[in-house]
Amino acid sequence: AGSMTRSHIALVSVPAFSHQVSILRFAKRLLQLHNNDFNVTCIIPTVGVSSTPSKSFFHTLPPNIHCIFLPSVHFDDLKNNGVPVEVQLQLSVSRVMPSVRDTLRSLLSSTNVVALIADAMVPEALEFVKEHNILSYIYFPCSSMLLSLCLHAPTLDQEVSCEYRDHPHLIKIPGCISIYGKDLPDSAQDRSSLNYKLFLKRCQKYRDVHDGILVNSFLEMEEEATKAIIQQSICNGNGVGDRNYPPIFPIGPIIQNGSSGQKNDCDLCLLWLDKQPPNSVLYVSFGSGGTLSQEQINELALGLELSRHKFLWVNLRAPNDRASATYFVNDSLVDDPLSYLPLGFLERTKGQGLVTSGWAPQVEVLDHESVGAFLTHCGWNSVLESVVHGVPMIAWPLFAEQRTNAALVTDGLKVAVRLNTSGESVVLKEEVAEVIKSVMEELEGEEIRRRMKELQKLAACAVMEDGSAGKTLSKLALKWRSLGNQKIERGEP
Ligand code: UDP
Repeated sequence: AGSMTRSHIALVSVPAFSHQVSILRFAKRLLQLHNNDFNVTCIIPTVGVSSTPSKSFFHTLPPNIHCIFLPSVHFDDLKNNGVPVEVQLQLSVSRVMPSVRDTLRSLLSSTNVVALIADAMVPEALEFVKEHNILSYIYFPCSSMLLSLCLHAPTLDQEVSCEYRDHPHLIKIPGCISIYGKDLPDSAQDRSSLNYKLFLKRCQKYRDVHDGILVNSFLEMEEEATKAIIQQSICNGNGVGDRNYPPIFPIGPIIQNGSSGQKNDCDLCLLWLDKQPPNSVLYVSFGSGGTLSQEQINELALGLELSRHKFLWVNLRAPNDRASATYFVNDSLVDDPLSYLPLGFLERTKGQGLVTSGWAPQVEVLDHESVGAFLTHCGWNSVLESVVHGVPMIAWPLFAEQRTNAALVTDGLKVAVRLNTSGESVVLKEEVAEVIKSVMEELEGEEIRRRMKELQKLAACAVMEDGSAGKTLSKLALKWRSLGNQKIERGEP
């Protein structure tokens, strides 16, 4: 089929690396299964200069995935003013909407677009298609638990009058383990804030999505949560109007497969891992933007040393008291982050560990046989990557919805141990050393490893062609393809 006659899928992303890679990996997966049926265009709003890892990622995309980077919107008033990341993201996206709409309009007039899929942070992009004959979906790059919470949030908002963290009971999310109010996402922490208002508005929009929500999780990992939301999305026979939620499509785990192609100083990590015994290394990373305070860097470093276990600590950043300070803009790269480590630490731990401020080929690291556990901030991509590679976790959540994810992997799935990172106090080196030992060596670690291996198998099955996620994605692909054919027969566009 020529490019005009192929069905075209339009994606709208947001200026956050982990969101962009997630939706584009979804597109890659779609094309892996149905290679010649689709062209994909991803519209990508930008703020400032993109970082090196994100640049190299875009070079690895197949030719029928095309990215349109929109001109950068003004952003300086939002960054580093204590504005929460979710608000920064949401406001920057609102500013870029006119240009998203223009781009969509020209895409629709020149290609056979059958579906528009918008990242969960830009549900407003879907409003554009109302007057066009195309399907509209949200791509939700987080857990089904978080999706259940979001869909339930407007109700929860009416039921609970105090701050959620002051609520005397655990918070009940349909189909999920009950959690402490303080483990809800940052955007639900201060109910008088703009962050919360924007959150509720997004959640309301999720309920109204016309054709469905694609969630990057899989049935077997979050069965009850998924079923609870699916149940509310089924019509009782009288048509679309009387269902509460849109259709839900669990299509995960979508993670990078194969090599990242990002080889540079990070080969060093892999070369170093090659020399270590199997399952002996703790991998430590706080994701694409997490930072720790100076005090916390010290305690973590000393705790790693104290544990006597091998470690690979990557993305070490200069200290900052706001954990999400570098999430968007890594412009504090003047100092050498390694200089913030405790005095003499690097010499003392020479044979024990490797620390780098660089970007790691994380999926290759997690796939390496020397890695025995992952100390993670619980970003959803990191969680899924750990699951797919069967690596038990130590949960060290920092911001956004990471505490909710931490609750899921510890209390819910029991494939991780959680550090007490809530509150103002610093996690002490003794606590760090103890938790590392409990995952890397003792009996408790044995159970966690066993459950993680089971979950790993379920993840592998889910993405097979006849697995739960594989079948779901195939059904969607068939629908999109046949819609494309109908449009051609009718002579559209
Ligand atoms: N990542 C990586 N190398 C690094 C740090 C992160 O490849 O050194 C990747 C990681 O594999 C994951 C993504 O960046 O796919 C981070 O996404 P996540 O949702 O875990 O956290 P976020 O960056 O959004 O906080």
